[in-house]
Amino acid sequence: MANMRLVLDGAALAENWRALDRLSGAATAGAAVKADGYGLGATDVVPRLARAGCADFFVAHWHEAQALAGLVDPARLAVLHGIAPGEEAVAVSGIAVPVLNSADQIARWKQAGGGRCHVMIDTGMSRLGLDWRDDIAGLCAGLDVDLCLSHLASADEDSAQNAAQLQRFEQVRNQVAARRYSLANSAGIALDGAYHFDCTRPGLALYGGVPCAALAEQIQPVMRLEARVLQVRQVRAGDTVGYGATFAASHDMRTATVSLGYADGFKRALSSIGGFVGAAQHLPLLGRVSMDLTCIDITAAPGLGEGDWIAADLDLLKVEAATGVSQYEWLTQIGRRFDRLWVD
Ligand SMILES: *Cc1c(COP(=O)(O)O)cnc(C)c1O
Repeated sequence: MANMRLVLDGAALAENWRALDRLSGAATAGAAVKADGYGLGATDVVPRLARAGCADFFVAHWHEAQALAGLVDPARLAVLHGIAPGEEAVAVSGIAVPVLNSADQIARWKQAGGGRCHVMIDTGMSRLGLDWRDDIAGLCAGLDVDLCLSHLASADEDSAQNAAQLQRFEQVRNQVAARRYSLANSAGIALDGAYHFDCTRPGLALYGGVPCAALAEQIQPVMRLEARVLQVRQVRAGDTVGYGATFAASHDMRTATVSLGYADGFKRALSSIGGFVGAAQHLPLLGRVSMDLTCIDITAAPGLGEGDWIAADLDLLKVEAATGVSQYEWLTQIGRRFDRLWVD
């Protein structure tokens, strides 16, 4: 057992999916579960979302699809990165459906004898997908396309790029006879209903991230980091705390050394600005975050002692604003040393 745990709220996860599905209007919400379910654990996340009613799942890599074997209908599990050379065999094995991103990927799929597939169209992000200005009808000829998708670059901003991408996607839609069309990620759901099409693909907001103000009221936090106090000490006026002695105590204080550090994703960017919550108080972080340890001022929580569990004060929106590190990075860079404790 680790002295750190991720406490995960399964009911909040399910409720977030239902809220996003509702907000998707006539479209059905799927779920982006790449990067191990944004760090929360894909094999725990997926069955909970499936029970809530989610049917379409998106991962980036084939090994991520393999890890979900038996948990989802392979026909509804999409691999966003498609087929790199050498991945033909796994791509036609039936464990998931590739999202074809380029003429080469389409050729590899056909060569391998692949059947139903998805197609990604790049409508202005210049990242993955067929260029919307190319002969999309020609490139997709002979393909059995389930989902035709594109991805918004600036959905979390009030940007003219959104309308431009929507218009390009509308145009492409007439050239690909797909069963379903899909454009919106989490923030895209909060844009106009015109962005919803048949299927939406939220990730961040499922896990408690808030990509735009319009979703703030609808989304609940899912994840809490907790760690144990390893030692309580009296720091005297003039003593310094941690590497580089960046904090010097101006008065005597009671401090706790907590079993959580930047190797666990509790980033050094939090040094001097982050904190924990104990006895309903914010307990400020002192000095730098170490690799495996963090020191905090617990003067305001006199009952706190060695061995006690306390929670990091890690509101994703607030830490993003305070550190400039995105909510996506906070979630996906959570370390692997935690015990995961799901409460439903
Ligand atoms: C990651 C990803 C999503 C989910 O995006 P969020 O911003 O996390 O909601 C949707 N579609 C594609 C293609 C993605 O890569």
